[in-house]
Amino acid sequence: MENIHIRCPKCSWEPDGRPHWQCNCGTIWDTFSTGARCPGCGKVWKYTQCVDHNVGGCSATSPHLDWYQGLDDVVNKLKEEMEESWSKVKTG
Ligand SMILES: [Zn+2]
Ligand SMILES: [Zn+2]
Repeated sequence: MENIHIRCPKCSWEPDGRPHWQCNCGTIWDTFSTGARCPGCGKVWKYTQCVDHNVGGCSATSPHLDWYQGLDDVVNKLKEEMEESWSKVKTG
């Protein structure tokens, strides 16, 4: 994973490892630590919202996979694996 860079496709904000995302089941977590899957209910969030302006983001919503940047083959492999794992669970 060392060649993969994660950042907001709109404003280039980089996730800081903190739990900025909340599922509608109430779970709050770092969506990039689980490949967009809620650890509470297992729901996958195909779209990820950037954090608010007051913590450096832009609040824009982008496809989760668009946040991943890096060597194309590495990123494409990761995206394939993620999409395959998503196909087994409910998505939103
Ligand atoms: Zn959930
Ligand atoms: Zn942003």
